[in-house]
Amino acid sequence: MPSEMSPDEFRAAAHQAVDWIADYLRDIRNLPVLPDVQPGALIDHLPKTGPEQGESMDAIFADFQNLIVPGITHWNHPRFFAYFSISASGPGILGEMLAAALNVNHMLWKTSPAATELEQVTLGWLRQWLGLPDHFFGIIHDTASTGSLHAILAARELAAPEVRRTGEFPPLVMYASEHAHSSIDRGALAAGIGLENIRHVPSDDEFRMRADALRAMIEADLAAGRKPFCVVATVGTTSTTSIDPVAEIGEIARRYNLWFHVDAAYAGSAALLDEHRHILNGAAQADSLVVNPHKWLFTPVDLSILYTRQKDVMRRMLSLEEAPPYLEAADQDRAVNLSEYSLALGRRFRSLKLWFVLRYFGREGITRVLRGHMKMAQDLAQQIAADSRFEIAAPVLFSLVCFRYRGSDQYNRDLLDRINSSGRAFLSGTTLHGKFVLRLTIGNVATTEDDVRQTWEWIRSLVLPGTGSPGGEPLHPL
Ligand SMILES: *Cc1c(COP(=O)(O)O)cnc(C)c1O
Repeated sequence: MPSEMSPDEFRAAAHQAVDWIADYLRDIRNLPVLPDVQPGALIDHLPKTGPEQGESMDAIFADFQNLIVPGITHWNHPRFFAYFSISASGPGILGEMLAAALNVNHMLWKTSPAATELEQVTLGWLRQWLGLPDHFFGIIHDTASTGSLHAILAARELAAPEVRRTGEFPPLVMYASEHAHSSIDRGALAAGIGLENIRHVPSDDEFRMRADALRAMIEADLAAGRKPFCVVATVGTTSTTSIDPVAEIGEIARRYNLWFHVDAAYAGSAALLDEHRHILNGAAQADSLVVNPHKWLFTPVDLSILYTRQKDVMRRMLSLEEAPPYLEAADQDRAVNLSEYSLALGRRFRSLKLWFVLRYFGREGITRVLRGHMKMAQDLAQQIAADSRFEIAAPVLFSLVCFRYRGSDQYNRDLLDRINSSGRAFLSGTTLHGKFVLRLTIGNVATTEDDVRQTWEWIRSLVLPGTGSPGGEPLHPL
């Protein structure tokens, strides 16, 4: 019966794992982005019960390579263009490894002072780079969904402080664009707001929330005796990366005394670039804002940041009358107890990998990569626009290109299936103005112009010359 792995065994196995990772990152283009597997394939392959006796690392590792990897969708693949593409960069992976070894739980300052303080330092650096005000307090959550839930809970606390005691709700109403991410509605759902009290504000023809429509909805709710309490602006919507008029929405929030939350999960990173800093104009007035380094900042999943200027409300909304004795902690000015600001008590040492990433690339290196992604997206959009069989379906603001073949929805859905089942690239789809369109996002740190060019050439080869006619088999492989 094996006891804990010896240091020597660990060293040997770790070297093997690191070698595997280095080879994986080097050779990843040889792998299909999407696996060719049927549902249940892995379940059918693995034992029905766990092992009675311990097994060797060799056996475990062999099964990892032979059974697990073939069923993986390679999010770290440079031709993963679906949803929002992401990266586990080298420094990010190393930070994650070391955090696993330290196995810190920094729920309180004293349960790991350096982990607590590094979180504040890294989020402070990023806050400066994003042009956000110094008084914004930052905290790391697993995902933007969790961060936005906390924002909505804080908004509720401010608007209806009695709810925490009575559990009885006044008729609170929340507003977000019809293109807001589903996590906003789900956050409101979890906060007890009720689906009927979430307004989906219509957008203009470039998918931006219409401020006039927002104002009209708020007025109608007030006239009906309801209580508007929160509005969410999105910087970089999920379907098209459109940007709501943040400053204008902020004005309305101030006028009607609403909590103002900004969801910049994907596009917030672009504000690191001087020429894109303006996308967060007006965000300094926000009560809260989420941005995801695990999306477009080369940091392995998971790491999302919630900034807020309502630190005290965030704390109050989750505080009990009496803290349990095991959580007693000296309330010192500089010793922040981060678990007081989140539902989760335990906290992984997530800031370590972000610190590695920020230091390894530096602001200059990060902006160079992001600028490259946006340039590739612009170039691709030009090529698509130049091919009369295709059309661009939404403005290209960052690194997402929405486009469609000039044909039926069914044809475009089939085209997407043919692209993805090849394993050569992975795109996703969405519906805009009632039509099905293809989405190609560039966000992986290793993606090159060749990756994008080859993918586009190959997509073109999947459709026949002419317009609106179904295409045949690929003419040439990537
Ligand atoms: C990706 C995304 C989210 C969800 O992020 P998670 O971290 O996966 O919860 C929310 N909002 C926007 C605008 C996004 O792009």
